[in-house]
Amino acid sequence: MDAPTHKLGIEDIADRITDAVMEHRLPPGIKLVEEKLANAFGVSRTKIRQALTLLATEGLVTIHANRGAFVARPTAADARDLFATRRLLEPEIVRNVITHACPAHLARLRAHLDEEAEARRHGDRRRIIRLSGQFHMLLAHASGNHFIEKLMAELCPLTCLIIALYDEPQTPACPEDEHSQIVEAIALRDEARAVSLMLQHLDHIERALHLEAPAAREIHWEALYG
Ligand SMILES: [Zn+2]
Repeated sequence: MDAPTHKLGIEDIADRITDAVMEHRLPPGIKLVEEKLANAFGVSRTKIRQALTLLATEGLVTIHANRGAFVARPTAADARDLFATRRLLEPEIVRNVITHACPAHLARLRAHLDEEAEARRHGDRRRIIRLSGQFHMLLAHASGNHFIEKLMAELCPLTCLIIALYDEPQTPACPEDEHSQIVEAIALRDEARAVSLMLQHLDHIERALHLEAPAAREIHWEALYG
């Protein structure tokens, strides 16, 4: 086995596994065999175990005592519960942002919209999914409610995983332009419109999901590194 010339850190390994999950190279529910991953990345099993523990805290990996680690497989019911929770939280976020947001927050949101547009121009799906999640986290941060922000920090990565797993590969994570319409309603302090746009937006994302089981396929472990 050829060892890589540079040392991969735990977060690098976690990032590469995340990419493989988001790009459907590792399907939901697949067992993440420590030994195979250690060989693929040219690192120790201890390092792999630490990376898997990190991913478990983000909800991307499920660790079962004695059975090992698996790519999380959120069910259709999980997805529905997750969106129901976001429909409770995000109208409150939007109302708080309208009350508390300063010009700097709005400028940051608009800069983020430019980044999203750029990623769409390049058809960079993985980046689009990540930026879409970050948009909702930026709003949660601007809301000034630390408890809601903490809840959203738990829900957003799981939403990204659900979108990556169950959305049509060619469709966007968050429908185009909906984020900018929300930001414009916030900038105009039009609370009713901003809340209604946010609820419609969450409905659109949920309705685009296809929650049937993905087909079984062969895994190319050696391709995970590189
Ligand atoms: Zn969105």
